[in-house]
Amino acid sequence: MILRWRVSAGHHTFRSLTPGAVERFHGWLRARPGRRGTLAAQTIGGYLQVFHDLYRQRDKLPDGLTFDPFPLESAPVAAGVTRATKGAIPFIPDALAVDILSKALTWVEEHAEPILAARAIWDTVDIEAREHGRDRHGAGRRARLRLRGAVLRGPDGVPIRGGMETRQLVTHLAEACFIVIAGFVGMRVSEILSLRAGAIEFRAGGEADLPQAYVRARLFKTVDDRGGRDERWFAPAPVVSAVDVLERLSARLRLLSGRDQLFLTRNTQHGEVVLVTQMQIALRLRHFAARVDVPAYEGRPWPFAPHQFRKTFARFVARRDRSQLLGLADHFKHASIAMTARGYVGTDFDLQGLVDHEGQIETAAALERFLTADRLAGKMGERIVAGNAIFRGRAGAQVRRDYIGFVMQETDLRIHACDYGWCVFQPETARCGGTLAPSEAGRAPAVCVDCANFVVDGRHRLYWEDRRSRNAILQETASPLRRAVFDETIAQCDRVLTRLGKHDDDEQTD
Ligand code: SF4
Repeated sequence: MILRWRVSAGHHTFRSLTPGAVERFHGWLRARPGRRGTLAAQTIGGYLQVFHDLYRQRDKLPDGLTFDPFPLESAPVAAGVTRATKGAIPFIPDALAVDILSKALTWVEEHAEPILAARAIWDTVDIEAREHGRDRHGAGRRARLRLRGAVLRGPDGVPIRGGMETRQLVTHLAEACFIVIAGFVGMRVSEILSLRAGAIEFRAGGEADLPQAYVRARLFKTVDDRGGRDERWFAPAPVVSAVDVLERLSARLRLLSGRDQLFLTRNTQHGEVVLVTQMQIALRLRHFAARVDVPAYEGRPWPFAPHQFRKTFARFVARRDRSQLLGLADHFKHASIAMTARGYVGTDFDLQGLVDHEGQIETAAALERFLTADRLAGKMGERIVAGNAIFRGRAGAQVRRDYIGFVMQETDLRIHACDYGWCVFQPETARCGGTLAPSEAGRAPAVCVDCANFVVDGRHRLYWEDRRSRNAILQETASPLRRAVFDETIAQCDRVLTRLGKHDDDEQTD
C-alpha cells in the first residue's frame, strides 16, 4: 500500500521523499476507511513504522529514507497510539492460566525426557551421516529404526516414530519452557528470549542461608543501554527445570551456530540458525495452547500473548490467593508458596509496580464483594455485614461506587487474599505480627480466625468444610491430649461455616 501511494503521489524512490510527503501520507492514511469508520491508531502506527525503519536501515538499503521522519517521538505515538487507544493487556482468565501452566509444567517435568531422547537419536544419526558422507534418506531410515527400538512415548502415550513428529514435539517443548518461565517468574518476553546457557545461578541467601536459584538474563526495558543489562530473578524449581530442558534442547543448534542463546531456531529459507523472535513466540504460544487443548473462553480460543503471562503472574502475586493455584500445588512445592510478593519480584521494580496495580484492582473487587454480602464470617466480616445495608443491592450501587472510589484514592487500605479468607490488613490489630502486610510466616487459619482483620466469604466455604472433615478423621484416633486440639479446630470451622450459612446462600464465586 505504501508503494502504491508513493507511485500515485509521483515519488519513484523513498530517497526522493520529503518530510512533507510523509506528513501527506499520514493524512491520507487517517482519511482511509477502516472497520470502525477510520483506521485504528495502531494500524497507522504500523505503516509509519516502516518509514522509521527505512531511515534506521538506510545504510544497508539501496533506497532508504534520508531524514528521520519522527525525530522527537516514536511512530506509534506519532500515529496517536496511547494507553487508552492501545487498550490494557488482558490477564489470562484464572481457569485458563492454571490449565496452560499445569500442562506446560507436565511437558517440562514429565514429557521432556523421551522428547529429548528422540531428538538425540536424530542428532546422532545426522552427525554420523555428515561424518561418513552418507545420504540423508538413508540417515532418516536409520533414525526411524533406532526410534522404533527405543520405544519413546510422546505426551499422548503414542511411540514417537518420525522426524517431523520429533521436530514438532521439540518445538512444543520449547514453548512449554517459555510458558513455565513467563508464568512463574514474570519476566518480559525480550528477557526470556535473551536467556543464555548457564542462566541458572545458585546463591546463598534467605533466612536459612540456603542456596537459592536465580535466573539471569538481559533486562532491556527501562534501561538506557540498548544492549540491556544483566539482571537476576528468583527462580522456583519448575523454572530451573525449564532452563535445564532448554539447555539440552538447544545444545546442537548452539554448537552449529556458535551462539549461546537458548531460544534458537532454523531459518526456513536458508537453514541458518537464528534467534526466535517475539512475533514467532507469540504465534507459537497459541499453537501450544491448541496442541494441549486449553479450553475455549466464551466459545473461542483465548488469544494467548507472551506479555499476558507477566500480567497474570503479577495478578496471582498481588492477590496471593493460592486457592486458584491448588492445581499447581504439587509442582509449586513449598519454596514458592512461602515467598512473599517482593521475594518473587526481586529487583524488577517495573514488575513490582504491576503487582501493586493488580493489588489495587483486587482490593477494589474484594470491597465490592464485602459491601454487597449479607453473610460473612471472621471478626471483620461480621462487623462489615452489621453495617453494610446501605451499600447493598441496586439501591446502594452509587453509594458503593463512591465509597470504593474514596477508599482507593484516599487511603492505603489493601485487602490480601489467601486460601481460607481475606485479610483487611491493619497493623495495630494484626495477630500474625505483620507490620506492613500480613506476615507470611505468622499467618495461619488458627491465627487469622481470631484476628480483628479477618473476613471469610462463600468462596472459602470448601476450604473450611475440608479442614473440618480432615480434623474430624484425625480426632477419632487421637490421644485425649491431642483430641482437645482437634476439638478446638473443629469448633473454629463450625463457627465460620455457621456464619456463612448454607451452600444455597452463596453467591456465584469467580
Ligand atoms: S492474622 Fe491473618 S487476618 Fe490478621 S492481619 Fe495477619 S493475616 Fe491478616
